[in-house]
Amino acid sequence: MFESLIRFVREQYRTNEFIPLHAPVFNGRERDCVIDTIDTTFVSSVGAYVDRFERDVATYTGSARAIATVNGTAALHVALRLAGVQAGDLVLTQPLTFVATCNAIAYGGAEPVFIDVDRGTLGLSPIALEAWLSERAFIDDAGCCRLKAGLRPIRVCLPVHTFGHPADLDGLLGVCQRWNLFLIEDAAAAVGSFYKGRHTGTFGRLGVLSFNGNKIITTGGGGMLLADDALGTRAKHLTTTAKQPHPYEYIHDELGYNYRLPNLNAALGCAQLEQLERFISQKRKLAARYATELNGSALQFVTEPMGCRSNYWLNAVLCEDRMQREALLTATNAAGVMTRPAWQLMNRLPMYHDCLRGALDNAEWLEARVVNLPSSVLPDGLV
Ligand SMILES: *Cc1c(COP(=O)(O)O)cnc(C)c1O
Repeated sequence: MFESLIRFVREQYRTNEFIPLHAPVFNGRERDCVIDTIDTTFVSSVGAYVDRFERDVATYTGSARAIATVNGTAALHVALRLAGVQAGDLVLTQPLTFVATCNAIAYGGAEPVFIDVDRGTLGLSPIALEAWLSERAFIDDAGCCRLKAGLRPIRVCLPVHTFGHPADLDGLLGVCQRWNLFLIEDAAAAVGSFYKGRHTGTFGRLGVLSFNGNKIITTGGGGMLLADDALGTRAKHLTTTAKQPHPYEYIHDELGYNYRLPNLNAALGCAQLEQLERFISQKRKLAARYATELNGSALQFVTEPMGCRSNYWLNAVLCEDRMQREALLTATNAAGVMTRPAWQLMNRLPMYHDCLRGALDNAEWLEARVVNLPSSVLPDGLV
């Protein structure tokens, strides 16, 4: 089974070797930029590449500010703190995500609430969100959204642009406005994905990007906070140990973090960012070929939502049922073509098992059917 799909993937990458899900590609100035940090000795927390990487990402995304961090999880942690989330708060998010989304919530003593996703976008459903809030929450006299039972504050909504496909941002912005919620976008996987012409991560008050090794461009490990001027200044302060500028004294005026991206990593990021648009055009070509190849087959290829330009970070198909999913995963991995199921839903993990949740029909439906296919940028010359 699935021999033709396996043959098709091998034809794309022109190799009989193991084909990974997503491998980084270093065809640009990466080597020169990284060596430059060694030659100048500026490998660590100070250096010109960090400033340049932040400036370049801000320009590319259209964000007022971009603050580099050691990884995407750290950026999420700081974003939640900037949003005023406190221990005991509830944070609205989706169960279909990488565990980092929920871990960042839990680090500050808050708890995720799991709301269903849309089958079309794979992202948080504004309809499910509105329905859950109408049933379970109210807005108090001070304007704070609270759970009716127990009055716990609900300050933040944290949707995810799953596999790089933009969520329904217009719908989510509407719900957040009605319920006085602070929107943070987990755009970790969505670098280069645009919703109605604007970069994902710039619709909420804060947005988070990741440059981990498996993402569309990488700094080895790294992340970025997208923010306005005021929150950007606060973010920079918190991620650099909350140190006040002074000619010689060490003055730290609040609890800060050592979350700043090293210059060594930023150098890699600068060189990768120069190639992002080329990577995306190659990945979109690959996605179009998958779509054509699978047209009329039992596997339904997941395409970008209307009005969006997705980066197609991870290509995905929907199987007919869980049995077919197992068969596809078994056959492809046995043949050296790496495929993976979607993440186990967060509400199944022991640490999030008892969290509040709405009906999760779509998330469960997707969990049983989604398989990610090899999605690396095609080697030069094979496009
Ligand atoms: C990769 C990822 C993260 C975490 O980013 P790191 O840089 O690996 O810490 C968070 N959320 C989602 C949806 C991701 O895909």
